[in-house]
Amino acid sequence: TKCIAVITSGGDAQGMNAAVRAAVRMAIYNDARVFAVHEGYQGLVEGEDFIKEMTWSNFLIVLILKGGTIIGTARCQEFRAKEGRIKAAKNLVGRGISNLMVIGGDGSLTGANLFRREWTELLTILIERGEIPENSLIEYPVLNIVGLVGSIDNDFCGTKMTIGADSALHRILECANAIITTASSHRRTFVLEVMGRRCGYLALISGLAIGADWIFIPEVPPEDGWEERMCAQLKAARNVGNRLNIIVLAEGAVDIHGNAITAEQVKQILVKYAQQDTRITVLGHVQRGGSPSAFDRILGCRMGAEAVLSLLESTVDTTPFVIGLQGNDMIRVPLMECVEKTRNLAKAMDEHNFEAALDLRNFGNTLSIFKGCNYYS
Ligand code: ATP
Repeated sequence: TKCIAVITSGGDAQGMNAAVRAAVRMAIYNDARVFAVHEGYQGLVEGEDFIKEMTWSNFLIVLILKGGTIIGTARCQEFRAKEGRIKAAKNLVGRGISNLMVIGGDGSLTGANLFRREWTELLTILIERGEIPENSLIEYPVLNIVGLVGSIDNDFCGTKMTIGADSALHRILECANAIITTASSHRRTFVLEVMGRRCGYLALISGLAIGADWIFIPEVPPEDGWEERMCAQLKAARNVGNRLNIIVLAEGAVDIHGNAITAEQVKQILVKYAQQDTRITVLGHVQRGGSPSAFDRILGCRMGAEAVLSLLESTVDTTPFVIGLQGNDMIRVPLMECVEKTRNLAKAMDEHNFEAALDLRNFGNTLSIFKGCNYYS
């Protein structure tokens, strides 16, 4: 019987519970045993009650509508060090587990891959120390891993959508609707700052869905002189009868020189040069909370189920995969290829090579739609 451990790590995202639930049930359905690791890699290092075997009824249907991750997540320094990973290996072998499904960001998946690569070395150390049986390496020659990406930012190369991004978009739209009614009453301009770290996905897509007057995304920094162009654009919208303006600002927005563009800076410009009564709303963690959207619940279910199937099919020679969405299909993409592309993207952003960064993003034709229908940057 294969034993699978499921772990959520890094930042939480809506839809993770659906993924864990589907994984648990798909594993049991296929006669595998499945364990939930609580509190991310911390739980793997600690062992004990942090690693619990799951049953069919552990994940009751009500949990699918909860955001976040009910098995908990954490950032774990200990797992970054070899001694931490030795403890983690002992905790897995002690339970007969040599299959690991990790839902997290690129850090969590990199950690999982390192853990997998070191598996033989870690088990050899444990055998030498007499902490696990001598035949452990014969019984568990490899650690099979599979990755799922949970992130509201949709910033990972290898899947068109990450678990949580769609729910965050819904939350942004709900908040924007509320802001638009008050902005209209007072004829105000709002600068809406959304999350995404260095990825403009949430800002771009929500800006399109809101019909924003202007958006700032990190991948398409505005050319010099944007201040005047933005003010002229907003004034023009008022002149034809608009009672409000909405600007969507990605938290990681920069100008072409790589300098951060802040909400306060945009506000000051609008007050000074466009004489607009301007307010800032920073949405923050509400974007990461609350109930997952239908899309994220289904995406989580499909990815969780596919991940377990890929583990069940794994042999000693299988390369580790990330489960991705391409079109309407679940695909298995080599994990390290995805991590590397994601790293290259970060590097391109560091070097202000925005064109290269944009090439690796999942924006599809939304960027050109936005250019065609609205103004930005
Ligand atoms: P998010 O995108 O939400 O930040 P993430 O998975 O990228 O998610 P990190 O904080 O980078 O978040 O990583 C989560 C955990 O994964 C870390 O606390 C650490 O335990 C483990 N981890 C990350 N990188 C490594 C690494 N290079 N080696 C070993 N473990 C790692």
